[in-house]
Amino acid sequence: MRLISRLRRFVPDARPRADKADWHCSQCSGDYYGERYCVNCHTGKFSIVTTPVACIEEVI
Ligand SMILES: [Zn+2]
Repeated sequence: MRLISRLRRFVPDARPRADKADWHCSQCSGDYYGERYCVNCHTGKFSIVTTPVACIEEVI
């Protein structure tokens, strides 16, 4: 499940970081983590944040 891999990435560093997040690019339907910049589109303006911070806190 993709959710599991996402959680594993967050567990070692669960502290909120304003400059890092999970993103979903609506232009190319790609998902990535880090700063708001899709390497496929070479822009971040099509990207929406998908970091389920509240959900992760509930799971942990
Ligand atoms: Zn993209």
